[in-house]
Amino acid sequence: MKVGFIGLGAMGYPMAGHLAQRFETLVWNRTREKAQAHAEAFGSKAVALEEVAAASVIFTCLPTSREVGEIAARLAPHLKADTVWVDCTSGEPEASRTIAARLAEQGVAFLDAPVSGGTIGAERGTLTVMVGGDVAALERAREAIEAFAGKIVHVGPVGAGHAVKAVNNALLAVNLWAAGEGLAALVKQGVRAEVALEVINASSGRSNATENLIPERVVTRAWPLTFKLGLLAKDIGIAMRVLDGADLPAPVLRLVHEVYQAAKREIGADADHVEALKLIERWAETEIR
Ligand code: NDP
Repeated sequence: MKVGFIGLGAMGYPMAGHLAQRFETLVWNRTREKAQAHAEAFGSKAVALEEVAAASVIFTCLPTSREVGEIAARLAPHLKADTVWVDCTSGEPEASRTIAARLAEQGVAFLDAPVSGGTIGAERGTLTVMVGGDVAALERAREAIEAFAGKIVHVGPVGAGHAVKAVNNALLAVNLWAAGEGLAALVKQGVRAEVALEVINASSGRSNATENLIPERVVTRAWPLTFKLGLLAKDIGIAMRVLDGADLPAPVLRLVHEVYQAAKREIGADADHVEALKLIERWAETEIR
């Protein structure tokens, strides 16, 4: 099988690396040097964008559905029927339905297949992949997706994968922020964050934020950049539109949208998402450690 990968960012670079170890892999990236470095590191082939159309399964992992739509428009004239397009971007359900309908005119199947597990999951090849779209198309692409997946779940029609991902990331945002508020209050009252986390992580308040993100990145003051705050804020925005579509009140998730918009403004879109807690630290005039 020949596969193609478009978008060699923090996630795409290692994901395409796993593909290249199993399949003939064509890669394209806006900044061409990254594609060349990928070819040297993994034995993939750096090609012009239209040459990616030679692949039978094409992956995209771009910031938003807007870039996916732009690339799809540029690539569409070159695509052959029966190609499966697997979009691993954390994208928009509605935009994906539009892209899927356009590609379907050419016999190309579109799957929205966002991923969870972070850059570590991408490097280890253990990502959770939530897929929206035609089941038969998923079966044609499954072997390729398995190259970087620990778990693949079909969640519904086109757009459903992106909806699940948006809600998942809204939950990440809630857990991270809420833990930051609680820990800042405890630190101010003289409890060390490490001690509080030892209790919480053996109790019912634990989450990925308390078990991994805060001990590894905040308490240590390491603040590595793996997932941009601007991208998480974008995902919460998508979750807001999912809520609008469902037409139900959801005050906590709507509030967390406001909070991360403020954090993005104050801390910066290119900071890591965990750095949102620096805003809590500023308000509390204390460090969470
Ligand atoms: P990065 O910012 O690291 O990479 C973005 C990629 O998109 C780069 O290859 C960049 O190219 C390319 N790109 C940006 N704008 C354009 C454009 N206009 N045209 C063509 N290519 C473009 O992002 P991530 O890899 O972190 O994220 C990618 C997607 O995966 C996002 O939707 C994100 O929400 C999601 N995600 C991220 C996770 C993470 O932990 N980082 C975890 C799970 C999902 P160039 O090299 O030229 O800048």
